[in-house]
Amino acid sequence: MIVVMAHHSAHANVESVVTHIRERGLSSQLNEGVERTVIGVLGEVYDELQDELTLMPGVVEVFRISKPYKLASRDFHESDTVVYIGESRVPIGAGHFTVFAGPCAVESEEQTVATAKAVKKAGAKVLRGGAFKPRTSPYSFRGLFEDGLKILSSARSETGMPIITEVMSPKDVDLVARYADVLQVGARNMQNYSLLDEVGMTDKPVMVKRGMSASYEDWLLAAEYVMAKGNHQVILTERGIRTFETFTRNTFDLSAIPAVRSMSHLPIVADPSHSTGRYFMVRPMAMAATAAGADGLIIEVHPNPDMAKCDGAQSLTFDNFSSLMNSVKAIREAISGGN
Ligand code: PEP
Ligand code: MN
Repeated sequence: MIVVMAHHSAHANVESVVTHIRERGLSSQLNEGVERTVIGVLGEVYDELQDELTLMPGVVEVFRISKPYKLASRDFHESDTVVYIGESRVPIGAGHFTVFAGPCAVESEEQTVATAKAVKKAGAKVLRGGAFKPRTSPYSFRGLFEDGLKILSSARSETGMPIITEVMSPKDVDLVARYADVLQVGARNMQNYSLLDEVGMTDKPVMVKRGMSASYEDWLLAAEYVMAKGNHQVILTERGIRTFETFTRNTFDLSAIPAVRSMSHLPIVADPSHSTGRYFMVRPMAMAATAAGADGLIIEVHPNPDMAKCDGAQSLTFDNFSSLMNSVKAIREAISGGN
């Protein structure tokens, strides 16, 4: 249920509505927008509550949201959300386009710092790198764990780039959040509800990657878990879904970008690396996603993809990444009419 309060409604009126909701055993979250103040009522609402709230001072309108996701919906937050990343507050969303790039996995300080410098030079704003890797086989390289986080943190000191890294287990959230600027929830964990709860209790932005067989609604409900715990800094990432096609690693669902944009106010990033699994498809799909209106891209880059311990086949060389960035820039200029 959504309660729309009069523009610049008195603080006391907002407080009374919040108290009323709490006394009914429900919880609420506030969105103080420029145009209007909206209170989202969370929990099992009942029909009479709508009338009770409509009669309260300062209340303009009360309506029920039919969709199962509430805080992630445009009913709760009409305009696009901007998420700010790291100490330098790199913005993403509402016209701010941001590229995350770096190796699939942190392998060494040398590899990570060299990649960070190269992707920064080409225009990436956030460094990616996995320290806890979700691998299909338990015998594959699974990451350097805390040592990997330390390497990412020295790459941040050397380049000034904020870092994004995956957290796989609720028990590691505190540790990863001590180092990371953005917590990444991977496709395999999109429905790990204890993990979503836990990252929702941190003050770090969270990237929620789409599960490989998740519908848009499942995906937005995963974001809702994070937001319901009070953390509204969520970034959604389309990373391809499982289909019958075997040429590509996954099938990139380009439609997800305009579809989810119509459903949600959260920034949407495209991951052409995991979507395709093949390096030569990354640039064209990055361009397509940019043209479709993505708020950013997350791309895997490695100094020597043939030697990568993880996802080498989809990783770009420094030169290929730089050429991708030029193409993406050209698309951005084309779609914004040259502005
Ligand atoms: C990754 O970003 O390296 C990764 C494992 O992605 P996904 O969860 O989308 O497979
Ligand atoms: Mn990867």
